[in-house]
Amino acid sequence: MATKGRVRQRETGEDNPPLTPEEIAEFKVQLHDKRKQLLSGSEDTKKTIDEDQEKLPDEVDLASAEYEAAFENRLRDREKYLLKKIDKALERMEEGVYDECESCGSIIAKKRLQARPEATLCIVCKEEQEQVEKGFVKPRLQREEEYTF
Ligand SMILES: [Zn+2]
Repeated sequence: MATKGRVRQRETGEDNPPLTPEEIAEFKVQLHDKRKQLLSGSEDTKKTIDEDQEKLPDEVDLASAEYEAAFENRLRDREKYLLKKIDKALERMEEGVYDECESCGSIIAKKRLQARPEATLCIVCKEEQEQVEKGFVKPRLQREEEYTF
């Protein structure tokens, strides 16, 4: 009987208190660092690709240049997405709702914010959102089908 109550307590949120102003200030620094890294970060990736290319013969250059462009585009999309999320997290900080889940309003676990300071959803809502996003994937080449015959 006594142990039963103890296990339940983990879900009541006592282990998951709202962030202190000091902790929020720390996350703010982290977010700004991450932002800076993102804005200058693509340089590193480019460097590694350039180094690889030096070892390749001329014929392969074109193919790998195309690959590099595609790779960079994808990287840029991901960076843009992450930048938006970081800006949003900073805005939420200004509004004083940084550690509140955008969807259900419960406190986002500190551990989760430590791993992803740009998170705006608690882990439960995030998992739910990922399921929804997977269902919304549309095939890009659908339009071309109209031109066959
Ligand atoms: Zn939530």
